[in-house]
Amino acid sequence: MDGPAEYDSSQFKVTYEDFTRFVEGVNVTNVCGSCGADNEWYVHTSNFEQSEADACELTIYRLDHASLQAFRAAFMEGCEKCGTIRTYDATVVTEWLKVNPKKVSWWK
Ligand SMILES: [Zn+2]
Repeated sequence: MDGPAEYDSSQFKVTYEDFTRFVEGVNVTNVCGSCGADNEWYVHTSNFEQSEADACELTIYRLDHASLQAFRAAFMEGCEKCGTIRTYDATVVTEWLKVNPKKVSWWK
């Protein structure tokens, strides 16, 4: 992976819908590794408007790096049952989304 870069949040804007495509596309397991709960994950997003859930943008976490000027960006989701949090390198997610853009239907 690339090293840390100057933080620019516009590089890491990801919608809930696209994040869902990512986790399904790379086959992330729905089973919690800590408690075994199946499909109890909630994604950290910027808001909780249910009616626009797919359009919610994910919260971008800035993980500290040795250099005070640099960050690694990350997304997180938590297990509703046991509170385990799992973290995704935002660069991996955004790169995957670039290579796997949303397909547009001809007949739409
Ligand atoms: Zn759990």
